[in-house]
Amino acid sequence: MARRRQLYEGKAKILFEGPEPGTLVQYFKDDATAFNAQKKGTITGKGVLNNRISEYLMQRLGEIGIPTHFIRRLNMREQLVREVEIIPLEIVVRNVAAGSLASRLGIQEGTRLPRSIIEYYYKNDALQDPMVSEEHITAFGWASTHDLDDIVQLTLRVNDFLTGLLLGVGITLVDFKLEFGRLYENDEMRIVLADEISPDNCRLWDAKTGEKMDKDRFRRDLGKVEEGYQEVARRLGILPEAGVRDMKGPEVMQ
Ligand code: UDP
Repeated sequence: MARRRQLYEGKAKILFEGPEPGTLVQYFKDDATAFNAQKKGTITGKGVLNNRISEYLMQRLGEIGIPTHFIRRLNMREQLVREVEIIPLEIVVRNVAAGSLASRLGIQEGTRLPRSIIEYYYKNDALQDPMVSEEHITAFGWASTHDLDDIVQLTLRVNDFLTGLLLGVGITLVDFKLEFGRLYENDEMRIVLADEISPDNCRLWDAKTGEKMDKDRFRRDLGKVEEGYQEVARRLGILPEAGVRDMKGPEVMQ
């Protein structure tokens, strides 16, 4: 029986029509891709962990007044979110040099940046998400200067809050990617945090040893990929008690 209509399938998630208008169900898959989907694989239990980690972080952010699309987790792999009009930008924040910043500008990976740096990428798979500037964004109408002001303000708050929260559990927030959407309510539009926040789109290093606990373990074939994601959940105090292997199928939880 088809329970609901699938609206979109991405690399790591599937979106279904939600139970009521204006809602969607986000289903988290175990599939992993890297280097613009040239590298593909599966990380067992990743969907379960990312669903839980993203729920936890979105809830904490909601508590400090960051508007998000998150409503509630439905089961091990699904969460209910508000339907928003996604702004076609990836907002990357960096605190420590790594990945494309390190290679493009020749800065040693691990160098602490003099201040947090925000970068914009245009979400377009065919173009491989090119980096763009505020000029491109406003000229092509992907977001207005006012939208961008809101996005930058929210992004910096998210960065400060998550940096502290993660440092408290011995994790350095090196960099991460956010996506925002427009939420229309009673003739008003608000910019809200959308998508997910998980080790798929953050670089998370052990604060003492520098050991990586994120998707770089998959991208760079470092091994113990599942363990990295699990360790993040464990430190946040949200590792499902029965262990991720017991959590294959959706199972309603309150
Ligand atoms: N990132 C992401 N999706 C992308 C590109 C980057 O979530 O399509 C995240 C990535 O996980 C990292 C940060 O954004 O935490 C910065 O990524 P970078 O530009 O260094 O690119 P990468 O090295 O991942 O190709």
